[in-house]
Amino acid sequence: MARAGFACEDCGEVVWLAQGPTHVRWLRDREHVAREVGEHSSSGLDQWMSEGLRFIDEHRGHSILVVSNE
Ligand SMILES: [Zn+2]
Repeated sequence: MARAGFACEDCGEVVWLAQGPTHVRWLRDREHVAREVGEHSSSGLDQWMSEGLRFIDEHRGHSILVVSNE
């Protein structure tokens, strides 16, 4: 199964998420949508989304790439 994650070009840090590149790219491009869903859902976001958003938060203003093991 294809796995994907985020890599920060500025820090050299990488996080692998339990999703393929299509989902991970969606999360990066629709970050605000995902946060909105998380706020209005009692069960919260899927874990991979929470992890991805945390990485985006930590690297705000940095250059974040989507990486894949494909
Ligand atoms: Zn960074």
